Amino acid sequence: MVSEEIGNYKRGEDGASLVYPVFSRRSGGLSLGINLFPNRKQCNFDCPYCEVSESVTGTVFDLNHLDRALKDFFEHSYPEYWAGVQIKDICISGNGEPTISPHLAQALELCAECRRRYASMVGSSELVIITNSTGFLNQGVSDLLARYVEREALKIWAKLDSGTQDGFSAFSRSEYGLEDIVDGIRSFAVRQPIILQTMLCRLSGKAPGVKEAEAYAAILNGLLAYKAKIEAIQLYTVARSTVDTSIQALSDSEILEYATLLKTMLKNYNSPPILLFGRDGAFKADRE
Ligand code: SF4
Repeated sequence: MVSEEIGNYKRGEDGASLVYPVFSRRSGGLSLGINLFPNRKQCNFDCPYCEVSESVTGTVFDLNHLDRALKDFFEHSYPEYWAGVQIKDICISGNGEPTISPHLAQALELCAECRRRYASMVGSSELVIITNSTGFLNQGVSDLLARYVEREALKIWAKLDSGTQDGFSAFSRSEYGLEDIVDGIRSFAVRQPIILQTMLCRLSGKAPGVKEAEAYAAILNGLLAYKAKIEAIQLYTVARSTVDTSIQALSDSEILEYATLLKTMLKNYNSPPILLFGRDGAFKADRE
């Protein structure tokens, strides 16, 4: 699950870096990305807006390699290039869906340990994982994530791109059923908090309309009725050009219009804040 980077994109020209500092519009500052798939993209979705390259490198993920890369960043690169810049989060994302990595548990532990080891630089930053929500269908993955929410205040940014099966299939280009994904989100979020992230863009010339907003709102209302702990909803559009040219970013005003419509449909519940991210970054944060 690629993070949404802007500027200073340093995952390595071929995507082979295990640790990559970026300015992230959704983190609101410097984010230290952790890439569990330096060799090639590995994901169970095939989102048309995906910005991860399909290129293959010779770098294989290895925990010692990650440890060395983190050490190198904090002891050399950060003091040299980033000194004084607050690191907002350590974010496990990278070239694919991190919950399908066999190294996820070890990577989480190493990142958590890193926050303690380099507390003066990164101690107050959040530990984040960006997921397409399929991991919630796996009990072992859910339990692992829940443990790190409890122990390390892990923040989980979970994807839900559409409220309809057609929309979900068009965005994920996967065989997953929307109902299963929503069930997984609900099961997890009644235990531990998540942040929902939803891509808003024009797909083959079509922007999400009223019907999509209604379906999406119905799912959210259902989740909230079950007391799912949704801390915030991130509505965002593509920041950079995508390989698939059928994708186009929405303008800030289109995103705002959608968010306003959505809010009217969520008014019966204690709705989470809706955070808006256009091409150029956060342009309005609703924290009522
Ligand atoms: S979930 Fe979608 S955007 Fe994220 S890595 Fe997979 S294909 Fe790309």
